[in-house]
Order: sequence, then structure tokens, then C-alpha cells
Amino acid sequence: MGLFTKKIKSKIPAEQLPALLEVHREKSEFYLQAIRAFLFFLKEFSFDLMEIDAVGFKSLLDTLSKSFATEDSTQKIRRVFEGSKESILSYIGREKVYFQDRETELRNIIELLGKSMTELAGENEVFNTQVYERNLRMEKLTFLDDIRKIKETLKSEVDQMKRVVQEKQARDAQHLEMLSREVKLLRSDLEKAKDASQTDGLTGAYNRLAFDSYIRKLVERNSVSWDPFSILMCDIDNFKKINDTYGHPVGDRVLIALIQKCKVMFRRDDFVARYGGEEFVVVLPRAPLRQAMKKARALCKAVAEGRYIFDNAQPDAKLTFSVSIGASFLRRNDTAETLINRADKALYQAKHSGKNRAISEKEVA
Ligand code: GH3
Ligand code: MG
Ligand code: MG
Repeated sequence: MGLFTKKIKSKIPAEQLPALLEVHREKSEFYLQAIRAFLFFLKEFSFDLMEIDAVGFKSLLDTLSKSFATEDSTQKIRRVFEGSKESILSYIGREKVYFQDRETELRNIIELLGKSMTELAGENEVFNTQVYERNLRMEKLTFLDDIRKIKETLKSEVDQMKRVVQEKQARDAQHLEMLSREVKLLRSDLEKAKDASQTDGLTGAYNRLAFDSYIRKLVERNSVSWDPFSILMCDIDNFKKINDTYGHPVGDRVLIALIQKCKVMFRRDDFVARYGGEEFVVVLPRAPLRQAMKKARALCKAVAEGRYIFDNAQPDAKLTFSVSIGASFLRRNDTAETLINRADKALYQAKHSGKNRAISEKEVA
């Protein structure tokens, strides 16, 4: 006290002391308020990050602020302050590292997004450009400082990217559908063309070309695995006379009628072909000769029983016709020719023994 009085005494007159003290009291009060305000600012400035214990940091600032407000002893305040310094510095360091890490992560994400967008690009040029522009904007993202802004921009970029990708997918799907429609059309055209090259224009039955290739394959296949079959050679009886009597167009209609009858009588996997002129051949897969003959006789009967109107002007006038059939069954050493020859011989015998009948190769003398 003596020292204090002495010092003051030497410079400041005693009557000014109360006013001076008042000034200092006010000043120290203001400093205290300012310190507490700054501590509050610091608290507000720190992010609520659990990973770096923001809660601990904020309660440390509270303790400090409280001790500044309530503690009378400067000694004690100094001790609390000194004790807090290191914790505060360590927290600031952790926060810096945290943000550096996040920034790196963000950059990686942006890079990854950019890369996958470019990979998605494929051949589509418009899409490429869109993706490229997006990518540029993504790159700019890394220059933004505000993490919230980055988040918002990133979200909107991702949304727009999604839209771009969806649009591209829709376009691709449309394109694909169009292509598949075109392929379907082409395929059906091809099938039609193939059908046309294999069928007889007048009757719709398989033509000679189709028959030759079919029978060759069937005989070949039997040299690998034995699965024999029968064939029927059918020839319309006295067809020349039909043409001569009723005219060529009626003859044509007789050919068509015969094929329609065959379609009804034979199975779907039986192969009916026009062999030439008024001669037809039927292949019956897996049918033994006996079964083939049964079919042949039934066909002869059905054709002969048919009554056909040949002139719409005279519906009561009917035409009849008949067929002769020769049948043969595949043998181990057969070629298509030898098999057909035996059926032909049987047909010849059917013609010479009175027509309108079926003769099997076994009945050939
Ligand atoms: P057969 O009973 O001995 O078989 O006597 P056919 O008169 O039936 O036999 P032929 O071989 O003497 O005459 C067959 C006739 O078939 C001759 C030909 O003009 C006729 N012909 C061949 N193709 C067609 C055709 O596409 N349409 C018509 N209308 N006639 C055809
Ligand atoms: Mg004939
Ligand atoms: Mg003939």
C-alpha cells in the first residue's frame, strides 16, 4: 500500500485518484465484456463436429467465460486461462485437419463422379457434351469454400446428372426398340423370301427344290442315327384329260384341291411337296410302310369321293378325279434316288393295274 501510494503520489495528484480509478474500472469492465463476447464468437465460429469433440471445446470456452465473469482473483483467472490455452490450440488444429480431410474426400468424390460420367458417355455425342459440361462445373465446385454451398451445388449437379443419364437411357431404349422392330421386320421379310423360294406358287406346297434338300438331309441323318421313314409318290390320274375337258384353269384348281386334301389328311410334320406337273410326293417321318400305305389308301379314297364344282354357273355339275400312289420305305443302303425309284415303280404298277389305288414297293413284281 505504501509503495502504491508513493508511486501515485509522485505522478498523480491525490484528488484526481477517484476519477482515475473510475476510468480504469470502466475500462476493465469493458475488457471483460469484450473477452466474454470474443469467447462467444469463438464458440459460434466452431462447427458442431462430434468427430473432433466440439462439445468439449464449447464447454471449455463456457468455463473460461464464467471464470472471467465471476473470479475476483486475477491469479486464479490467469491459471484457468493458461490451462485452457493448449486445449484451444489443439482444438483449432483438429478442426483444420478435419476440413482438409473433408476437402480431400470431396475432391475424390467429384473426381470419381466425373470419371464415371465420362465412362458412361459411350458413343453418344450430345450426351458426351452434356457430361463434359457437368464435369467442368464439378471441377469448379472444388474452388468453392463454403461447405454448405458445395453440398447444395453438388446435390443439384447430381440431380441434373441423374436427369441427363435418365434421358440418355430413355433415348437408348427407344433406339433399341426401333432397332429390334427393324430386325423383326427384316427377319420376317427374310422368312417370307425363304418361304417363297421353297414353296410352289400355285398350290402353296413345298417345291421340288425344297423336297430335294429335305430328303437328302433326312437320308444323310439316317446314316448317322437310324430313324427310317416312308415316302408316297402321288400322280393325278388322267390329268391331261381333265385339262382337255375343263380347261387348264380348272386343272390348276384340281391341283390346289388335292393339296388342300393332303393338308387335312397328313400330320403337320409330314412333308408334302409338288414333285413336278401333277405329281406330288409326301414324306412321312417315322412311319413304317404299313402305316404309310394306310394313309395312301385313305387319300385315294377321299380324293375319289370328292365332288368338285368346276363352273359356278352350273353348281350341280360336279367334277371327280382320282390319284394313284406308290409307296416305299427307307433301306439301310438307300440314297434319295433309290428310295424314290422304288416308290416310282410302285406308282407305275398302280397306274398299270387300274389307277385310283395305292401300291407299296413290296407289291411290285
Ligand atoms: P396318268 O393317269 O397316266 O398319269 O395320265 P395323265 O394324263 O395324268 O398324265 P400325263 O403325263 O399324260 O399328263 C400330265 C398332264 O398334266 C400334262 C400337263 O399338261 C398337265 N400339267 C402339268 N402341270 C400342270 C399345271 O400346273 N396345271 C395344269 N392345269 N396342268 C398341268
Ligand atoms: Mg397323271
Ligand atoms: Mg404324271
